[in-house]
Amino acid sequence: MSIVQQKSENYIILYASQTGNAEWIAKNIQQEANERGYSGECRVMDEYDKVDLGKIEVLIAVTSNTGDGDPPDNAIKFFRFLRKIKSKTFFENTKFTILGLGDTNYTNFNNTAKRLEKKFLELGGSVFYEKGLADDATGLESVVDPWVANLWPALEKVCIKKNKKSNGQIEIIASSVANISVMDNKNNLQSNKVGLENSLTIVKKDESIKTTATTSEKSSLTIVKKNESIKTTATTSENTINGDTVSKSTLNLRKSDDATLVPIRGERKGSKLIIDLSDLESVTQLTSLPRIPTTLCKITKLDSEIKKTLSNDRDSFPSIPSFVHTPTRVFGAKISAVRCLTHPNALKRTLHLELDIKDHRDNIEFVPGDVFGILAPNDEEFVWTLLKILGIDHDEAQRTINIEAVEGAGINQFNRLREQLPTLLELFLTFPSSKLPFERLLDVLPPHQPRYYSIANSPLVDANNLHIAFNVVYYNTPEPFAVPKWGICTPWLDELSGRITTTNIRTPLLSPIEIPIFMKPNEHGFAVPNDNKVPLIMIGPGTGIAPFIGFLQHREKLRDIRRKISTIGLHARREVDKQFGDLWLFYGCRDTEKDFLYKDELEGFVKRGVLKQLEVAVSRAPGAGELGKPKYVQDLIRIRGKEIYELVSKKGALIFVCGDAKGMAKGVNDALIDILIEQANMDRVEASKLLLNWVQEKRYIRDLWA
Ligand code: NAP
Repeated sequence: MSIVQQKSENYIILYASQTGNAEWIAKNIQQEANERGYSGECRVMDEYDKVDLGKIEVLIAVTSNTGDGDPPDNAIKFFRFLRKIKSKTFFENTKFTILGLGDTNYTNFNNTAKRLEKKFLELGGSVFYEKGLADDATGLESVVDPWVANLWPALEKVCIKKNKKSNGQIEIIASSVANISVMDNKNNLQSNKVGLENSLTIVKKDESIKTTATTSEKSSLTIVKKNESIKTTATTSENTINGDTVSKSTLNLRKSDDATLVPIRGERKGSKLIIDLSDLESVTQLTSLPRIPTTLCKITKLDSEIKKTLSNDRDSFPSIPSFVHTPTRVFGAKISAVRCLTHPNALKRTLHLELDIKDHRDNIEFVPGDVFGILAPNDEEFVWTLLKILGIDHDEAQRTINIEAVEGAGINQFNRLREQLPTLLELFLTFPSSKLPFERLLDVLPPHQPRYYSIANSPLVDANNLHIAFNVVYYNTPEPFAVPKWGICTPWLDELSGRITTTNIRTPLLSPIEIPIFMKPNEHGFAVPNDNKVPLIMIGPGTGIAPFIGFLQHREKLRDIRRKISTIGLHARREVDKQFGDLWLFYGCRDTEKDFLYKDELEGFVKRGVLKQLEVAVSRAPGAGELGKPKYVQDLIRIRGKEIYELVSKKGALIFVCGDAKGMAKGVNDALIDILIEQANMDRVEASKLLLNWVQEKRYIRDLWA
């Protein structure tokens, strides 16, 4: 930026998005900026090499977080690149601002945005507008909306405003048409090009929701009238739901506390929601609608049929469009074996799968601690029902859309809808007059995300397969609704592997179907250390145990190999064993009879002297959590505090934590702080700082899952 002309010609927005929110916000900022006469572009962070980063004058970064404050997958390359920059003046010409999307329920709130700011400053950048840190716990919009509103006067000071575009929205939309290919089962995809004029019919200010809801579709809706209680409604709704859509009673289901059965495919269409209009006077305003769509899609027909097997070449995956971002190459893996790890009466049903990767051995290396992604398709029945509702069917005429966005006066009604955890399909079933053009729907939907799983085996024990453990996501919405719901990936894997329910019987499979998977680069050092002498304290309740099975297999195999090559004899064996640090495992389940995952393996590791200490917290045992009785892993950690402190401080043990980012990670962190206070005579602040140092020095390594 020259001194005479201090303002920049243009800006750049870089976004990092895990579920699509940050991307959507970034693209909206770009559109509004262009509307206001600024010129610039918007890119995902990992495309940083497509811009001349060192020459950027005005940078707006929008980022969400994943895990416990880690960068989203599509920013990993960018962060790696930033780390390597040595010049402290790299960003000396750059004025920047950052919008972070985080959640205060996690320990490291908005860590990615904070790390970015620190790095940009270290590299010579300067702030032109104070960062915004939005909190999903209280609603992102309460920070995002004012932050975006105040961005404009700040941007005006650093960026040149050119002539306002005439009819900018349409120009932007027209210039950003993207092609989306959709394939029809029967090879008869319909092209559904919709003009802009056909977009939205909006409920006007002062029109009441009541009026809107009682349209011609009234008879098919369940509406709670003022002063009627939800309870009554729920009972009524069962009859109502029993109409043309799938109802609870027509499904082959058991309740979520009986995890053995899930409905078969084709029975998952969804049901109408209960609409509670009690206490609603009138609609005050329409909000929460995208101001303007960011990109328009055009549906094109694909010629080839859906392939049931997938080859090595990503381009030949018809069901994985090019805009799906994966950090590494996608390849196909067959499910070679399945085992149900839980008892039929367990609260959650956990499966262990083995995925055959032997055809890719030359290109794939993995270590215990690595994670890979699975690209699961949406449920076909669900998608086709949705498409039909949206008029992607020659027989059905195009209709207009009514979107009610209830804020202010309608917030309670909106929340009551939200409590029912509606799927997209259910929203359209419930509000049949909402007819969104399919292309517009694709515009506003976040991209379909891969699902990630920890590898639960060591390549030294089985290099031809990737083992995983996961809970089949199947549950009922809260009472009084109690409507069954399913996840996407795990019910799909469950179905592909034969919906096995017998506990702990490994069943080999000969399925020809390959599922698309890809390896996730291991950025956080969550891997079994090369130095076998290092003692490990592993903490992983529930499916958080998965990577540690790999750790234990790995250490055992290495020990056995060493034992074999050493001189035979008890003394030699002892010498070998001394070269292996102690392994401690803290595991948590609800009931040892029902959901003690990998019980036999873990007890085997103890018997064979691989695992020095196995501590199991049983959360639903009689009296658990009462009168000092342990309930969770953190309680056991506190009990063994002295030994843990000695292992870490005297023997250099590493602490690994895997599992839930929200409750467990915080509980374990607090327990470690308490141990430091007690054992090292520190105050709370010193103890927290020390833990933070351990994180940075990779002595306390966590793989946390939101
Ligand atoms: P889970 O079955 O829900 O829970 C396991 C145990 O943890 C239960 O005894 C539960 O007790 C207890 N628990 C509940 N709240 C806790 C808290 N605040 N602190 C400590 N323990 C607590 O576990 P899960 O569903 O398997 O969850 C494990 C997590 O690991 C998930 O977030 C999952 O995504 C993640 N993960 C998955 C993989 C994978 O590859 N599939 C790998 C690593 C991690 P109560 O319910 O009785 O309170």
